[in-house]
Amino acid sequence: AKQVELLIVGGGPIGMACALAAQKAGINYLVVEKGCLVNSLYRYPINMTFFSTSERLEIGGVPFVSNNAKPTRPEALEYYRRVASSQNIRINLFEKVENIRPDDNGYTVITGKEIYHTRYIIVATGFYDIPNLLNIPGEDLAKVTHYYKDPHYYATQKVLVVGANNSSVDAALETYRKGAEVTMVIREGEIGRRVKYWVKPDIENRIKEGSIKAWFHSHLTAIRDTEVDINTPEGPITIPNDFVIAATGYQPDFNFLEKTGITLSADAVRAPSYNPETMETNLPGIYLAGVVCGGMNTHVWFIENSREHADKIVAHMRR
Ligand code: FAD
Repeated sequence: AKQVELLIVGGGPIGMACALAAQKAGINYLVVEKGCLVNSLYRYPINMTFFSTSERLEIGGVPFVSNNAKPTRPEALEYYRRVASSQNIRINLFEKVENIRPDDNGYTVITGKEIYHTRYIIVATGFYDIPNLLNIPGEDLAKVTHYYKDPHYYATQKVLVVGANNSSVDAALETYRKGAEVTMVIREGEIGRRVKYWVKPDIENRIKEGSIKAWFHSHLTAIRDTEVDINTPEGPITIPNDFVIAATGYQPDFNFLEKTGITLSADAVRAPSYNPETMETNLPGIYLAGVVCGGMNTHVWFIENSREHADKIVAHMRR
């Protein structure tokens, strides 16, 4: 087994922030990331604009220069990649952590490529790998996606967008502007309150003028090759459809947390247990950092307010 003092699971912005804090404290660490560098950001819609201003996405005190106040995904990819290379972050990419188990004085970490022995672990695995499913017939059809990328693909097509939060609204507006015929199905009676303040009037006006059709207080109930069923306040309807973008959110990998031995709350949030002062879980020496901390409440933590987890954790390790 390879020996490290700290193994960081996940090479997202927060895993990287932890790496920089550890490096500064002289801790022998390694980041293990199952995909590419900042894998979640890489998989976001290609031209997404962040809701945060660039300085709030900075890690390790490295300035993030962007052309506009709110950076785009390509700018963020560029930023985190340059931070990783200029700060010589020690990171293994395309290596998945499969198992963590306690051993004599720390933990054994088994990945797809290697076995490590480590004293400390930071779990910074985010929430972007597992979509919240609709659990309706046809959800597994190839025309359904939980990961909207690029509007061009949908030009001239009949697109149904599920949800009314940032991801849904961005997908609806972008595909509409590339010539798709867009219908939204929204559980609530209005567009989400957390939708970016400069985007909200755009979607509301497109709905008001009828350019985008929105069914409020409605549920998608079935998807077939050429049509979909929707339960609306006016009764069930069936409309023609080519593609479904189900922007229904994501959830942390609860299986991974549970099999590691991290306690989850018994309610629907399934919040992993940790001490908010130190970020240490119920397992001594295993810490949580970043958006994984929220359980199903994935809107509570973001880069802005969770990058500080890094310093808390390293301070506790060095106490
Ligand atoms: P992630 O970035 O998700 O990183 C977790 C990493 O862990 C991933 O790279 C994943 O591949 C890896 N991983 C998972 N399991 C394993 C395993 N078993 N082994 C190895 N590696 C593993 N936040 C903001 O602050 N501002 C914004 O404007 C903003 N916009 C957003 C827009 C979208 C569309 C989404 C979905 C989120 C947005 N967020 C924003 C939230 C933001 O994505 C998260 O705050 C950020 O990605 C969290 O960083 P993280 O490092 O905690 O998690």
